[in-house]
Amino acid sequence: MSQNLLPPYIITLDVDWAPDFIIDYVAQLIIDHNVKATWFITHESPAIDRLRQHPDLFEIGAHPNFFPASTHGQTPEEVWRQIRKIAPEAVSIRTHGLYQSTWYYIEAIREGFLYDVSTLLPSHPCPAPARFEWSNGSILKIPFVWEDDIEFQKPNPSWQTEKIITVPYPAILNFHPVHIYLNSENHLRYQNFKKLILKTNEISEFQRLRNTRLGTAKIFIEVLEKNADYSATLKEIGEIYKNL
Ligand SMILES: [Zn+2]
Repeated sequence: MSQNLLPPYIITLDVDWAPDFIIDYVAQLIIDHNVKATWFITHESPAIDRLRQHPDLFEIGAHPNFFPASTHGQTPEEVWRQIRKIAPEAVSIRTHGLYQSTWYYIEAIREGFLYDVSTLLPSHPCPAPARFEWSNGSILKIPFVWEDDIEFQKPNPSWQTEKIITVPYPAILNFHPVHIYLNSENHLRYQNFKKLILKTNEISEFQRLRNTRLGTAKIFIEVLEKNADYSATLKEIGEIYKNL
């Protein structure tokens, strides 16, 4: 596969403990478009297991939380153990909150991860991957260029895929299932969602929180449509770059 055959966009999703009905909703959208995607998972659940029933489309990646009060553990050792239990098959990884340190990379190599996508280079025109090498092996750092909740924090958010083009590398995008479901255009909508989830699990209640104008879902659907003819998971892109 040569680089001119790379898809324009790579879809990645940080699950961030989204409820099952939202994971199912987003998975179905992707399946309906027959597009590949990489899910960075945070927990075990029936909807996560349903993702595993589509290995032709979905890659399971790991999304560990190394911050204080993490549900994955109190120490890095506990977090690694827990995330490996949640995502034993993962070779791709993105840290929650894009946490990074030299030791993080050394330990990610030790845990057998091959591709790290924790580096955001917002709208960078040429986001080249780079290899981090250590005495215990190496990991390929693949930058991503766009994230839904960072877009909507900008003074003037843009919901147009035309503004996120990177050549010769595909533009790696990071979506959160909850923001696709809510079609979020700001953080307030998510705050309301978090309040509501403490009170009810009635799906119709959540539907009322959805934005009906421009937002995350609009750009997500556009990306699905643009990737309909040819798409790839992060792992597949990593394999193309493996000699870097
Ligand atoms: Zn996260």
